[in-house]
Amino acid sequence: MSAGFHHDEAQYYGRGAAAAAVLVLALLVPGCGGPKSVPMMPPAETGGQAEHDGSKAPPGAEDEPWWLSGGSPDSAVAPEGVFQAVPGGSIPEVRVLILETRKSVRVHVESGELSIIDSRGDTALSWPVAGEIRFGARGDEVSVSGGGGPAGQSSSILITGTEGSFVRIEGRPYRGSLCMAADGQGGLLAINILGMEDYIRGVLPSEIGYLKEGQYEAFRAQAIASRSYALSKMPGKRAERFDLRATVMDQVYKGVEGENAEASRAVDETRGVVGLWEGVPITAYYSSCCGGHTADSRIGWPSKASYPYLYGVRDADRSGMSFCADSRHFRWEESWHGDALHAILEQTLRAEFGKSAASFGRIVDMEIEGFSESGRVIALDIVTDNGSYRVEGDRVRWVLRPRSADGPILRSTLFKMDVDRSGGRVAAVRVRGAGNGHGTGMCQSGAIRMAGLGYSAVEILVHYYPGITIESVY
Ligand SMILES: [Zn+2]
Repeated sequence: MSAGFHHDEAQYYGRGAAAAAVLVLALLVPGCGGPKSVPMMPPAETGGQAEHDGSKAPPGAEDEPWWLSGGSPDSAVAPEGVFQAVPGGSIPEVRVLILETRKSVRVHVESGELSIIDSRGDTALSWPVAGEIRFGARGDEVSVSGGGGPAGQSSSILITGTEGSFVRIEGRPYRGSLCMAADGQGGLLAINILGMEDYIRGVLPSEIGYLKEGQYEAFRAQAIASRSYALSKMPGKRAERFDLRATVMDQVYKGVEGENAEASRAVDETRGVVGLWEGVPITAYYSSCCGGHTADSRIGWPSKASYPYLYGVRDADRSGMSFCADSRHFRWEESWHGDALHAILEQTLRAEFGKSAASFGRIVDMEIEGFSESGRVIALDIVTDNGSYRVEGDRVRWVLRPRSADGPILRSTLFKMDVDRSGGRVAAVRVRGAGNGHGTGMCQSGAIRMAGLGYSAVEILVHYYPGITIESVY
């Protein structure tokens, strides 16, 4: 079926003008418009990851930091940066994918408007709606019914609540508007379109948790990091239907349900403030706990674009105390017996290298192929009786899973490994590791600790992303 709005129950329309408008509609490309303004134009890149354990444990005994031999700790620099948001600049709109489904979706608005969107992202036709509206996938289009309007289908439909009201999707409230689009494969995409600041409000508590008194600067640092990350991704997504996913693939976003008052205050206070590298918003990756040294993105993600502010820093004060030493993930251990390891690797190697991989009788050997300067595993070689596999950088975490092939990934690539070999096979493997997450960019456990020690958000950010400036861009 060609794109356009096809109403099943034409009697709802009644008037000739509206019916004529339906006939001339030709929606060639689905989509509810792109961001109207993005202040900067950084290079496009794919895939981010944000993780955070959110909890704290008493400091454990700190092992000798084996990755730091000979190194001297960096110190947090106090720059002259201040928060001075420039009032009046327009807030960019961001498009966030919040739901991907093959099922029908219920949307509720107290009162609002339903719009049929044309290929340029403009409104072709609209009418008032109130109450529950139902969407479904029908071929490569979206079917709509309810809300007091006509039923029918189109490739993109926009729902906007009246000023100050929320759009509820399966009962969950969201600010801004909602675009329902067909994914072209028989499924539905629910895309929340809203101002950047409202988006960051719904991100912050999910990404950095609920902070204690005295740790407030970590909220401001996270707000700036999350805003920078989002802005850095948007220019590369202009031709796509959405800019960001509401998951750890980008940043966890839960709409209004994810907000809290303290985090929202930090968002308001840092309105439009971002980290910049050569005038461009930084791709501000962050993760839960770096283990004492943040990762060099060139080692962890060898196929991704690299940025000088993501080359890794020692996460400690001048005395050598690691800022994230309180995290329960600061030091950890995992071990595998031969049979369990075999069962896990058989599946994870296949997932990593394709169906032809990993049909083997035994694991002959496992070896780490070098460490980065900060101690992260550069690559892991796995030798089987039917071929060898080299897993590089952060992907090691997806292959060497601790519990099962579909269980959690390994906490980090900052580890050392002991292999017990007997009878021409690997009988057991023990790993001693540090940190949780990819380790690139801001260490959230460290940022929280720095905030508690009195560092400002600017000091925290400049520590984790050395060389950046912090400015207001709208
Ligand atoms: Zn850290």
